[in-house]
Amino acid sequence: MKNIIFIAPPAAGKGTFAQMLKDKYSIPHISTGDLLRKEIKDETEIGLQVKSVIDAGKLVSDEIVFNLLIKRLKETDCDQGFILDGFPRNEAQAIELEKISSEINREIKYVIFLDVSKEVAAQRILGRVSCPNCSEVYNLYTSNFKEDGKCNKCSTPLVRRDDDNEETFNKRYDTYLEQTKPVIDYYKNKGLLFVIDSNSNDKELKLQQIEAIINEENND
Ligand code: ATP
Ligand code: MG
Repeated sequence: MKNIIFIAPPAAGKGTFAQMLKDKYSIPHISTGDLLRKEIKDETEIGLQVKSVIDAGKLVSDEIVFNLLIKRLKETDCDQGFILDGFPRNEAQAIELEKISSEINREIKYVIFLDVSKEVAAQRILGRVSCPNCSEVYNLYTSNFKEDGKCNKCSTPLVRRDDDNEETFNKRYDTYLEQTKPVIDYYKNKGLLFVIDSNSNDKELKLQQIEAIINEENND
């Protein structure tokens, strides 16, 4: 079973690699950021509560995130494995996840830390745009566009996330240093941590490194 966590600063590539593994291994990609943004888009009560917190670059309360996550993790498509992107983000979440995941038979096997400098992360965030229709992600500085401002796949006008501005990025990065970095040591001490240098733009190389990690043991 491939139960994987991606842990990283903002814009290190969690979503990108989670999506690649999802397609290749047919296991679900669960992004707590995406789950929260869906609540905002659907204008649910939770969505209304979390919008300002996300726009301020802070963490949403553990309770809200955990309730969304646990519902998702119990679904049967997670039986053969899953990829967590953006959770856990503090030590309390890591401890809670450990408790519940063994109860529901979803124990974490690999924690992959995508290491990236603040400078590289900032450039990726400030150039990032995505397609609201097919979710393809682009970078204004590095991607080639068939038509300016439009998705190469489906021609939909591209959009920027509300929290992808310089001020919120700086806050998100601070939040990462204060709250999420300690989780890396937590998993290191448990022997579950693998580190990937994510500063280069060579996605193929990084994907190979990640696959070497998750395929290293028996083929269960
Ligand atoms: P990127 O998507 O570029 O890697 P990111 O890691 O900052 O950047 P998301 O994971 O999408 O972005 O999270 C966006 C926001 O959603 C966070 O800044 C935070 O406010 C909230 N959020 C997401 N996951 C959690 C979580 N596990 N606990 C608390 N808040 C969360
Ligand atoms: Mg993401």
